[in-house]
Amino acid sequence: TKYILVSGGVVSGIGKGVIASSTGLLLKTTGLKVTAIKIDPYMNIDAGTMAPTEHGEVYVLNDGGEVDLDLGNYERYLNVTLSRDNNITTGKIYRHVINKEREGEYLGKTVQIVPHITNAIQDWIERVAKIPVDESGEEPDVCIVEVTSLFRFYARTQPHLDRQLGGTVGDIESAPFVEAMRQFQFRVGQENFALIHVSLVPDLHGEQKTKPTQTTVHSLRGLGLLPDLIACRLLVPQPLQPATKAKISMFCHVSSEQVFGVHDVSSVYHVPLLLKSQGILEFLHKRLHLQKITITKEMS
Ligand code: ADP
Repeated sequence: TKYILVSGGVVSGIGKGVIASSTGLLLKTTGLKVTAIKIDPYMNIDAGTMAPTEHGEVYVLNDGGEVDLDLGNYERYLNVTLSRDNNITTGKIYRHVINKEREGEYLGKTVQIVPHITNAIQDWIERVAKIPVDESGEEPDVCIVEVTSLFRFYARTQPHLDRQLGGTVGDIESAPFVEAMRQFQFRVGQENFALIHVSLVPDLHGEQKTKPTQTTVHSLRGLGLLPDLIACRLLVPQPLQPATKAKISMFCHVSSEQVFGVHDVSSVYHVPLLLKSQGILEFLHKRLHLQKITITKEMS
C-alpha cells in the first residue's frame, strides 16, 4: 500500500479535505484503488456527542459511524464505502491502548505515549488502509491520510505564527500524530509514503505572502516530516503567481514542480483539474513508483 499524508491548515477550512479527496480521485482515474483515513486529534471517540456549534455538521457512515464531513467528500469523490474505523480520533486510540493495558497485553511494561500510543496510531492506519472499500473486494493500492490541524500545534510553540494567522486553540493534541507519522515513513519505506502539505498563502491586495508557508514548512522539517508537494491555497480567484511559486520553491527547499497553486474556484469539483494541470499525477507516479502498480494491473 502507498500512503499519501495530507497535512496542513494552520487554520482549518482552507480546503485541505478537498485537495485530499481530489488527489484520491485523480489516482483513481488511473485505475488505482484508493481508500482514505481522516485523523481528528480530539479526545472524543467520535463527533456524535459534539454539539453542532462545536463541530459543525456530522456525516453518518453506513455502519452508523458519526464522523467529519470530509469522510463524505471521500465517499463521493472516490465512490467508496468507508467505516467508522476510517476516522481516527485521539479518543479511539487511547481507548484501544487502555483496553489492551487492562487485558495485560503490555506484559507489565510502563505504557507511554511513545511508543505505545504512536505505535497504536501506525498499526491502526496500516490495518484500515488494507480494508477493501468498493464492490471489487480488493485491497486498496493507495491510502490518503488526512490529518486535521497538525500545525495548530505550532501556533502555540511559535507565537509569531499565532499572531500572523489568528490564534487557534493550541493543539498539543497533534503531537503524538506528528511523531507517529514521522516514524511511519520509515516503517513503510520512503517509496511508499508521500507528504502533501497544504499551506495558506494570504493575498494582501494582490501581494501573495509566502512567509507563513516558509515558517510552517521549516517547522515541519524540524519535526522530521519533509513535504513532497506544497499546495498553496489562495483564498482569492487569482492563481498562484510564478514569482510566488519561485520564492516558495527557493525558501522551502523544494523544486518548483513541487509547488502547486490552488486558488478559489467556482466549484470544488474543479480542484482535481487544477491539480492535474500542474502535474500531480506524474509527480506522484514517479515519487511513489505507481507506474509499476498500474502496469502490472493492465497486464493482468
Ligand atoms: P479543510 O479540510 O481545510 O477544513 P475543506 O476541504 O473542508 O477544508 O474546505 C472548506 C470549505 O472551502 C468547503 O466549503 C469547500 O467547499 C471550500 N473550498 C475548498 N477548496 C476550495 C477552492 N479551491 N475554491 C473554492 N472553495 C473551496
